[in-house]
Amino acid sequence: MCLTLQRHEQRLYKSTIQVIRYMPRAAMKRITGMFIVASTTWTSMRSFGLLHLVGLSHVASFVVGFLLMDLTFYYWHRANHRVSMRWRFHNVHHIDPDLDVSTALRFHAGEVLFSVAFRIAQIGLLGVSLLTYVIYESVFQGSTIFHHSNVRLPLRVERLLNVIVVTPRMHGIHHSVMESETHSNYGVVFSWWDLLHRSLRRNVPQAAVVIGVPAYHEPSDNTLWQTLTLPFRQQRDYWCWPDGTRPMRDVTPTQRDSSRLLA
Ligand SMILES: [Zn+2]
Repeated sequence: MCLTLQRHEQRLYKSTIQVIRYMPRAAMKRITGMFIVASTTWTSMRSFGLLHLVGLSHVASFVVGFLLMDLTFYYWHRANHRVSMRWRFHNVHHIDPDLDVSTALRFHAGEVLFSVAFRIAQIGLLGVSLLTYVIYESVFQGSTIFHHSNVRLPLRVERLLNVIVVTPRMHGIHHSVMESETHSNYGVVFSWWDLLHRSLRRNVPQAAVVIGVPAYHEPSDNTLWQTLTLPFRQQRDYWCWPDGTRPMRDVTPTQRDSSRLLA
């Protein structure tokens, strides 16, 4: 079953455009792969990186490495929202007015370039093995597709899953037009990092979430050309609708505790 929110773009048209947007990313991923193999081989041979300093067993090194990869990506994602130059690029991902699997492919080539540099530095400084990287990257990609999807899981199942991992309802709040909600729920694999850093919001009912960024909500803002050039153009007041008003949400009793269960 899928969420039945009103769609702004035709599914086929949107998917085609997202695939075109994804092509530079796919090319960069291949090149990155070669750098990462070289980087993990070099760090293993030289015993370089945090995990080598601690001297853990192979199993412990894998577990700690996996967790640190996810935690440090949480910080990276958070910085994408808080550093204005980085947000110009990350915003291209957020202005998608229809949240679905194809949104997981929608990243500006500039953001992909920054992410590639971050990934290489992350692996080198942490000193994770090639095996840890390959497993983490596979889980990371699977999680990204899962939590951007519009699959409606039974609420009980999603609440149970969300104790450990990021789920579609949790990530849906991250794509809300409300500024405070977009700047929350930064996790990719585990939901714990948001809980730990008090950036977790689970108290917004899915039906109340409007997806997108208010200032870029028109179909004309989401053409291929507009999204390619968006980071280089003068920026609008992101969190206001074109008429200058800000999105509002009625205060609900559950808003007193932002880490309460999803609805
Ligand atoms: Zn984001």
